[in-house]
Amino acid sequence: MNSENLKFDAIVIGGGIAGLQAAIDLGDQGYKVAIIEKNPSIGGNMIRLSKVFPTLDCASCITTPKMAQAAHHKNITLYTYTEVKKLSTKGNKYIVGAVKKPRFVDEDKCIGCRQCEINCPVLVPDPEQGNFVAKKAISIPFSNAIPQIAYLDTQWCMLCGKCAKVCPKDAVDYFQKPVNMEFESDVVIMATGFKLTSLEDKRQYGQGKLKNVITSLQMERLLAPHGPYNRVLRPSDGKEPESIAFIQCAGSRDKSMGIEYCSRICCMYSIKQAMLLSGALPLADLTIYNMDIRAFGKGYEQFYQNAIAMGIEFVRAKVAYLTQGEEDKVIVHFEDQTTGEKIQREHDLVVLALGAVPEMDNLEGFQGISCGYDNFIHSINPNIDPALLGKQGIYGAGCCIGPKDIVDTISEAGNAAMQASIFLARKKEEK
Ligand SMILES: Cc1cc2nc3c(=O)[nH]c(=O)nc-3n(C[C@H](O)[C@H](O)[C@H](O)COP(=O)(O)OP(=O)(O)OC[C@H]3O[C@@H](n4cnc5c(N)ncnc54)[C@H](O)[C@@H]3O)c2cc1C
Ligand code: SF4
Ligand code: SF4
Repeated sequence: MNSENLKFDAIVIGGGIAGLQAAIDLGDQGYKVAIIEKNPSIGGNMIRLSKVFPTLDCASCITTPKMAQAAHHKNITLYTYTEVKKLSTKGNKYIVGAVKKPRFVDEDKCIGCRQCEINCPVLVPDPEQGNFVAKKAISIPFSNAIPQIAYLDTQWCMLCGKCAKVCPKDAVDYFQKPVNMEFESDVVIMATGFKLTSLEDKRQYGQGKLKNVITSLQMERLLAPHGPYNRVLRPSDGKEPESIAFIQCAGSRDKSMGIEYCSRICCMYSIKQAMLLSGALPLADLTIYNMDIRAFGKGYEQFYQNAIAMGIEFVRAKVAYLTQGEEDKVIVHFEDQTTGEKIQREHDLVVLALGAVPEMDNLEGFQGISCGYDNFIHSINPNIDPALLGKQGIYGAGCCIGPKDIVDTISEAGNAAMQASIFLARKKEEK
């Protein structure tokens, strides 16, 4: 394996909205920054969303310009498809160890023409579209991905050679190997984000076996302008659902899952999705089963009240379990918390507000930082300096510290960048 040695003022780990914002803020101040992102494109979870609460702005219209700003910034260098595995110190420097995964496409040669993708004969599930539709074994990850460079998934490729044959730049390289990389910097910003618990985790909710039970991120894709079908259809038969239910806390505030905390974002995104659905499917019945609605942010209570006024039904209930009904319907079994009555109701489509957990839940090999009681990265003094994760020079922002909305993520990113720039300026003065 090759090794590279790269020096920056700051290294930002994670190219979601937190990492992009922190890098742009530092880059604008003249610091040399590297963003290291493990996926083939930057953008994180936000680029997968439809619209965002509470303003209902288009998510991709906000995220894409930020992605482009970071990618074209003269002080920012992007390292995509590169996963950070280690963090250590050497003197007063941070050393970040990462592995550049093989794309099997030469990044310097690829021009993003998609000829390989068009000609590849192998169809595989597309995770960027909630696995509802297929993509090719070699592809550009999604239409507004940055960088526009193809990557080949060896899990599916049958090595037929077609992509290499049609590539006008001779960029396909089946022999690429992982490359170990070592970065050096004065500060590090952790922005590694979150993921949702899996559909399979929740035995009572069908464990992923009920076809018309989907995740909240899958619903985001169904509602997105460049979604899989450009319409909201239920997976089992492609029909427009007439009755859609949202089940809150389907993985949060739940001892059986080991996730006792509130994931904070789910009440609001389910209300948002129900509102968007009332526009997309005006005749559909929309029900949100919840223990209580947590509308904590500025304008959020009004957003919730608007949803009630629009006719979205809020049922106070902890859903016990889901079963398969007739004609692919899903039966929701719950106890109404206001009457104590045990009730069953049928819906065409059910959306689970799964729990938010850290994307990186194992900090072994990451010197100087640790996980808190909830497995998210521990902020050592949240009331005084929420960005500080360990000794001066290592900061955090966004959902890697705990689940939160975009407004809080962006403010934390600005704070982490500010703390980092003060630290860098002091270091310069000391020299
Ligand atoms: C269904 C759903 C709907 C939502 N809707 C809204 C909404 O309407 N409004 C709102 O305010 N919020 C919403 N949110 C919340 C919003 O998605 C988050 O606030 C935001 O995406 C957090 O950004 P982040 O950068 O902290 O994390 P992420 O977006 O998770 O980005 C983290 C990045 O770090 C990368 N990474 C992780 N580990 C490594 C590693 N070891 N090396 C390199 N890279 C790494 C990941 O690949 C990822 O790209 C929603 C969330 C969900 C699940
Ligand atoms: S070699 Fe693999 S990726 Fe390329 S066209 Fe054939 S199946 Fe697709
Ligand atoms: S690998 Fe070749 S064919 Fe595929 S997008 Fe890049 S330049 Fe085009």
